[in-house]
Amino acid sequence: MMNDHIPDLFRKFDSLVDERSKLLSSGMQDPFGLVMDRVISPTVAICDERETILLGTYNYMGMTFDPDVIEAGKKALQEFGAGTTGSRVFNGTYAGHKAVEQSLCEYYGMDHAMVFSTGYQANLGIISTIAGKGDYVVLDIDSHASIWDGCKMSDAEIVPFRHNDVEALEKRLGRIPAGAGKLVVLEGVYSMLGDVAPLQEMVTVAKKYGAMVLVDEAHAMGVVGRRGRGVAEDQDCLDAVDFVIGTFSKSVGTVGGFCISNHPKFEILRLACRPYVFTASLPPSVVATACTSIRKLMNADEKRLRLWENSKALHQGLRAAGFQLGTEEPQSAIISVIMPDLESGVGMWEALLREGLYVNLARPPATPANMTLLRCSLCSEHSAGQVEKIISTFTRVGEARSLLAGH
Ligand code: PMP
Repeated sequence: MMNDHIPDLFRKFDSLVDERSKLLSSGMQDPFGLVMDRVISPTVAICDERETILLGTYNYMGMTFDPDVIEAGKKALQEFGAGTTGSRVFNGTYAGHKAVEQSLCEYYGMDHAMVFSTGYQANLGIISTIAGKGDYVVLDIDSHASIWDGCKMSDAEIVPFRHNDVEALEKRLGRIPAGAGKLVVLEGVYSMLGDVAPLQEMVTVAKKYGAMVLVDEAHAMGVVGRRGRGVAEDQDCLDAVDFVIGTFSKSVGTVGGFCISNHPKFEILRLACRPYVFTASLPPSVVATACTSIRKLMNADEKRLRLWENSKALHQGLRAAGFQLGTEEPQSAIISVIMPDLESGVGMWEALLREGLYVNLARPPATPANMTLLRCSLCSEHSAGQVEKIISTFTRVGEARSLLAGH
């Protein structure tokens, strides 16, 4: 009887629970419950006893199976053990953590690098620590959840602006008191539509108003820029960026996050940043694989070229078939196919999987403008034959479901 008076804290999830059970009771496969039983290569896995082309991972440069990367991981596992069992500031800093930080400093030509256990924690930690009471964080409205959560955890005033809109950014900055501390937070590549920020213009505007700039290059690292150092390198404004955030979970092919900077007081963050201090550091095998991978990414022009060729071929093929895509031109390794609604998106996602093609289903609230997207992310190791197969599978399934323009 008492229970009637105790509010169920799970009530807030009721609509999500209903929506999910409706979907699953219709016999549809859970789009967020895919299991890869075996992974054959960066582009192929066995799912449900079926050989499946992977087109929905962030393994942009195929480094997960690089023989040197694997060898480095094995060696570190044997020499340093399975884990550190401690925080970076206590017993959790090994030679490998310093080595991977050094590789990042060399790659980006910056003085300081701080490695976190994930990219999520890097954004959470850096934003919440450097933006305090009385400061302002000005951020793109389509920012990643880790950026929003970093803002939530800081005591700063949060000022969003319209996606990729330089004028809107300037307007917001103009309204902030001149003497206040300001941090502008941007991403190089936005992962939902795969579009790129006009970073150079935005950094110029931010500097005009005395703001520091943080750029999350999670989806651009390894992929964009002459040496794969991201959109800031590509648009020639890396020197003006105060903090670059990145992750090891995409083109680096393992797990971990980082922030690099030239700020003279940067090292103090190792003591002040809670998501750095109060969590265990990455296992030695992980930092060893990351370090080897990053050093290879510095000289991976050929892979980068292949990745861009794949991205262009897929964009062209899907567009010619009549799909509506997230960008007019391919701007990154992400090509998003816009679905008319959630129902047809889930249906198409499942049909593609049955045909041996895994893509990413993205749906509100993670997507801009409530869109349902089938996100395709390419890998340098997709062969031309695989890309052709991807296009023909999409076309066949899209046609059968009357999802193509003009059909
Ligand atoms: N930033 C962006 C833009 C991301 O897309 C992601 C992950 N999808 C992260 C940060 C977090 O990275 P990690 O997976 O290393 O936590």
